[in-house]
Amino acid sequence: MKPRKTPLRKCVACQQMMPKRELIRVVKTPTDELLIDLTGKKAGRGAYLCGKSSCFKLAKKSRALDRALKAQVSPEIYDALEQDFIKVEDEFIAGKHAAGDDDDE
Ligand SMILES: [Zn+2]
Repeated sequence: MKPRKTPLRKCVACQQMMPKRELIRVVKTPTDELLIDLTGKKAGRGAYLCGKSSCFKLAKKSRALDRALKAQVSPEIYDALEQDFIKVEDEFIAGKHAAGDDDDE
C-alpha cells in the first residue's frame, strides 16, 4: 500500500534527496530566530537536514545552514541547534515509527 506521494527535499549538509518526512526542518523565523521545526509548518525560510546528528555536524562544519538560510549563523547558534537536534532526534525517530495519522497529543 502506498501513501500519497512524498515530496522530496535535499539535505543541505550531504545534498541527498530524501522524502520530506525523513528530514528535519530548520527554520529561520521572520524574527530571525533559528529553530528546529518538527511540524514543518512554521513560517520562515527553511532548510532540511537528515535526521542524523552526523549530518548536523557536517552542516556546522561546512556552514551549510548559512548558505541555505541566507543568513549568518553564529557558532553559538549552531551549538544550540545541535543540542536541540540531538534532543529531537529521538522524538523524530519515534515519530516516524508511529507514523500514519496526525493524532498528536
Ligand atoms: Zn544529510
